[in-house]
Amino acid sequence: MEDCIFCKIINGKIPGDFVYKDAEIVVIRDINPLTPTHLLVIPVKHIAMLSDISPTDNTLMGNMIAVANKAAKEQGICESGYRLVVNNGKNAGQLVAHLHIHVLGGRPMSGNFD
Ligand code: AMP
Ligand code: ZN
Repeated sequence: MEDCIFCKIINGKIPGDFVYKDAEIVVIRDINPLTPTHLLVIPVKHIAMLSDISPTDNTLMGNMIAVANKAAKEQGICESGYRLVVNNGKNAGQLVAHLHIHVLGGRPMSGNFD
């Protein structure tokens, strides 16, 4: 997707702070971190949003969660705890129309999702 910022990062057209990369998934640091550790787990394949996934993406989604867990361990936030978030659409505050899982950790968080 030409105008997609995450596709551009994945294709090396603009810089990203990568902490993990394989053939189907990358992990970068969020440019505007909300917590001391704030990662984005992103599929290489352009899927605009969570509600667009199909059953053929089930393996990919499972792999994304496994990669999120692995990255959380490597960043040292596994024992203290972390949150995975997917914003889907306008009311959820989705800004980038390329599916991504936020991995948030490194400080206590409230149960208030606003
Ligand atoms: P969302 O609101 O769920 O779509 O989240 C998009 C996230 O992407 C935000 O937390 C942004 O800070 C982050 N973001 C936007 N541009 C970049 C970039 N160039 N590199 C890393 N993170 C970015
Ligand atoms: Zn994209």
